Parts: sequence; C-alpha cells; structure tokens
Amino acid sequence: MNEKMLKEYARLIVEVGINVQKGQRLVVNCPVDCAEFGRMLTTAAYDAGARDVIVNWRDDYVNREHWLKADDDVFDTVNPWDVQKSLALAKEGAGHISIAASNPENLRGVDPDRLRRFDVAVGRDMKESSRLMMANYCPWCVVSIPILSWAKKVFPDLSDEAAMDRLWQEIFSAVRITEDGDAVEAWREHCNNLETRSAKLNEYRFKTLRYTNSLGTDLTVGMPEEHVWMAGGDTSRAGIKFVANMPTEEIFSAPKKDEVNGVLYASKPLNLRGNIVDGIRLTFEKGRIVDIHADQGEDILRAAIETDEGSHYLGEIALVPYDSPISNSGVLFFNTLFDENASCHFAFGEAYPSCVKGGDDLPMEELLKRGINADSSQHVDFMVGTADLSIIGTTEDGREIPVFVDGNFVI
Ligand code: ZN
Ligand code: ZN
Repeated sequence: MNEKMLKEYARLIVEVGINVQKGQRLVVNCPVDCAEFGRMLTTAAYDAGARDVIVNWRDDYVNREHWLKADDDVFDTVNPWDVQKSLALAKEGAGHISIAASNPENLRGVDPDRLRRFDVAVGRDMKESSRLMMANYCPWCVVSIPILSWAKKVFPDLSDEAAMDRLWQEIFSAVRITEDGDAVEAWREHCNNLETRSAKLNEYRFKTLRYTNSLGTDLTVGMPEEHVWMAGGDTSRAGIKFVANMPTEEIFSAPKKDEVNGVLYASKPLNLRGNIVDGIRLTFEKGRIVDIHADQGEDILRAAIETDEGSHYLGEIALVPYDSPISNSGVLFFNTLFDENASCHFAFGEAYPSCVKGGDDLPMEELLKRGINADSSQHVDFMVGTADLSIIGTTEDGREIPVFVDGNFVI
C-alpha cells in the first residue's frame, strides 16, 4: 500500500478522529494483523504530543480459542484488573482508538449463551466506565483497515492480494484519503455539511417519524421532546472536538423509548458477535421488541436482544441517504462501521446521552425521565435503509413533512 496515504490516514485518525492533545494518554486497540498500521498510529500520536500510547493487541485466532475452550465460568465475570484499567483510563480522559477489523464469522459455532453471559457481565462490571465513554468523557474513534479473512469475505472472487487492495481502495475512498494529501481539510468540510443538515432536522422538532418500504417495514418512531439530532463531530467533556467514527455519514438521535410501534425489516446482513445475522424482522409494541425473527443467526440475534431489559428497546435512530458515497460503492462490508454509514439504521440498546439536550451532564434516572433508553449494556446498530424507503415526520402541531422519499432526504 502507498506509504504516503497510510501515513496520512494515521495522522487523520490521530489529529481529527481523536484530536489528541499534548500530555494526553492514548489507547489503541489493534488486531495483530494490523501491527504495521498500529505502529504508524503510535508514531503519529507521539508526534502530535501524546504523553503515552498503550496498544492492546487482539487476535482473531486467540479470541476464537478463548470463546471455544476457556473454562465456562470465565464468561460470567470481567477480570477486576480489566475493570480498573478501563475505568482509570476513562476518568483521566484518555483517547481511545479501535481498529475494527476481524473475520466477520470468527465466532461461528461458539455457544450463543457464552456470548450473552459475557455481555451481561460486561454490562454489570463495566457499567461505570462505559457510561463515561457514552457521555464523551474521553474522545474515541473507531476506524478500520483490511485484514485478509475480512477482505476475502467481502470480495470472495478476487485473489488474496487483489481482495486486500480492493478493500484498501474502498476504505480510503470512504475516509476521503486521496493522493493529494488534503484529507484533514476534506473532513472539516464533510463534518460541516452533516452538521448543517442536522441543524435543519433539529428545527422541525418532530414528534414522530413513520418509516415504510416494500420490504414490509411499517414503523412509527416517537421522538423525545428534548431530542437532539447530531452528526459529524462530537465534543468531549474537556471541550475537545473529535470524530467517533471514520467514516461517518449519519445524522442520529435517540427515539422515545416506549413509543416505537410496528414492524421493522433489516436491509443488510449484520455482523453480530462474530457471526452473520441476516433477514432480520423485529416487531415493536410500546417500544419493546416483542417478536424476533432472522432467516440466519436468529439465536445470536435473540441472545443479544435478551441481554438485559434495555436491549429490548431502541437507543438510536440514524439517517443516511441511499444515494451516499459508501452506499453507491455497492459493497457489502460485513462490518458495521461501513454498512451503517451506507444505510439508514437503528440500534437496539443504550442511547447516547447527548441525544437529549444537556444529556451528557444528566444521571441515568434523569435520562430515563427524558424518555431515552439510558440503561443497557448493549448498543447494536442494524441497517434498514432501502432505495424506496419513505420517512414522514409529524411535528408537534400535526403537520406532516416528508423527510425521506425513495431512500433520500427531501428536506
Ligand atoms: Zn449510528
Ligand atoms: Zn450506533
């Protein structure tokens, strides 16, 4: 791969994604297959003034062996030293970079109950640190680079080398890296455009949004009175701008927890807990998922939704035009970071506190009173956008405003 472009990508992640500050600690979660890029990130971070860079190495093979062969009670608790470490790092506002790259089916065949039990344990034992992360105490940024097992799943007909090259091209195009070296500027402009549109959505103060399409989706989503649409960059508690996902094409908020009704069909397969789930259909009554169906991987989906009470409810609503760069590439990535930015999506599980006015400063009980789903260990995005998706908003005073017609924004 073109070394100049790789270095620019590393710099973009450190300077725009995290916006690392002098004296700040940085955590990099990195697959061993991406070691070379992990080293580049480390250099870019120190060059930008990081105090200390901690790299947590991960490996699909080791991970799979763990899930298949570790003692069964291992999945009922989180190691106390891991809890302490992540809490201390969150409290000091350390930046967190995660490289999301793994074989989409790495955990195929693992007992779904092990996966569920460990998520319950994470939800219980890591509650404090995950709450700090969700409320932007520390800047975080999720990015991807290709690894072979993933590239071959996306491009099965290409040779190993060609599949890797093609996935690099798709990723570089999605994150606006060209050989011209102007990615930082391109990102500022992109974030501004997204923020302009989210400001427009905020002016409407929608009470409900009704989704329909030919897949069979017919879903009415209530919105909290004080909801906020967000896009592009976030701001950490220390007042530093960061970009949590690269790429990002979405404008998102949180639905009113108990006012979602109807049927919702997913439009793309979902990579969930190291498995592929496809053909998802969920039925909602007063916000709660009351019927779960998937053509493939239903047991995995069911275990995720049944992790805790909050995971039975939606926590995110996100709008992405059908006619948008990643969607137009026509590539199915089997990686949520890319697939969710190619499609309107929802997430079941916990909402981001900042989706209601002043939410980052509110305790959980207050967030629940504001109507958002503020208590779950889960946050799982799944894609629902189609070329014929219609979304009609209803305002407080009963006006009906088309928001999406034929898959695209009309406001
Ligand atoms: Zn999203
Ligand atoms: Zn999400």
